[in-house]
Amino acid sequence: MVTGSIAAIRSGIKSRRELGTLGLVPTMGALHAGHARLIEQARQECQTVVVSIFINPLQFDRREDLEKYPRTLPTDAELCEKLGVDLVFAPAPAEMYPTGSTLTVDPGRIADHLCGRHRPGHFRGVATVVLKLLNVIQPNRAYFGQKDAQQLAIIRRMVTDFDLPVEVVPVPTVREPDGLALSSRNQQLTPVERSLAGALYRALCEARRQIEAGVCDSAEVEKAATLQIPVDPLLRLEYLQVVDPDEMQPVGRIEGTVCVAGALWVGRTRLIDNVLV
Ligand code: AMP
Repeated sequence: MVTGSIAAIRSGIKSRRELGTLGLVPTMGALHAGHARLIEQARQECQTVVVSIFINPLQFDRREDLEKYPRTLPTDAELCEKLGVDLVFAPAPAEMYPTGSTLTVDPGRIADHLCGRHRPGHFRGVATVVLKLLNVIQPNRAYFGQKDAQQLAIIRRMVTDFDLPVEVVPVPTVREPDGLALSSRNQQLTPVERSLAGALYRALCEARRQIEAGVCDSAEVEKAATLQIPVDPLLRLEYLQVVDPDEMQPVGRIEGTVCVAGALWVGRTRLIDNVLV
């Protein structure tokens, strides 16, 4: 069943709740094999699987990005059906924000760096819509990709700090053969841009090599990694930074597990990725 109505999804869920665990996979659609991995894991672990498809205007800091974001609901619905999803919740913005405005969740200092720094208001929008989706669906488990490491960290903190009765399940990043993380935005790349896009993951792998070889100075690791990005007018590295994986704060000296995260502009498309080391 595909519905855009909160009342309808709630009544669809009601009869299924007694079957057992309910899993939610929140997405913005244009589904690919990365999303499929989340859905498959949810399918294995839950009696009922709900996928939400909502391009959340509140989390877009650039109008152009919102306007050109791919919208493919009919094929998304087909893929969901194939993967055995029980219910698809695909609301219009007016269903989620009927008054045109909303109170918001302030993620605080965990959003101070990386994407939070470069996309003002983005994580406020993400945290707000995820809180709403968790309230509408009330799942036992919610599945999020490690590809969006800062998003995952913020949602984990929100669940802890607001005592939300849901288990956050992290899912590893699915990649193309050249290492490029799958993303709905990859569709926007021209063939030339696509051939350059693997540079981000190569840079992150170089960071991993440095750290595993014993380099403890983050600045040194970041510099070596950055050198992997070719000088090309189509490429602009927005950030590449070593942070701690829970609070997403910059790390000076690398001691425990760290997250190396990067954002690379390829033409007019912005790609993000990260590795845990
Ligand atoms: P999005 O539709 O881009 O908002 O992504 C929806 C969910 O899928 C988020 O939890 C993402 O982290 C996750 N996701 C996106 N791309 C990938 C990928 N390549 N591998 C694993 N999970 C992903």
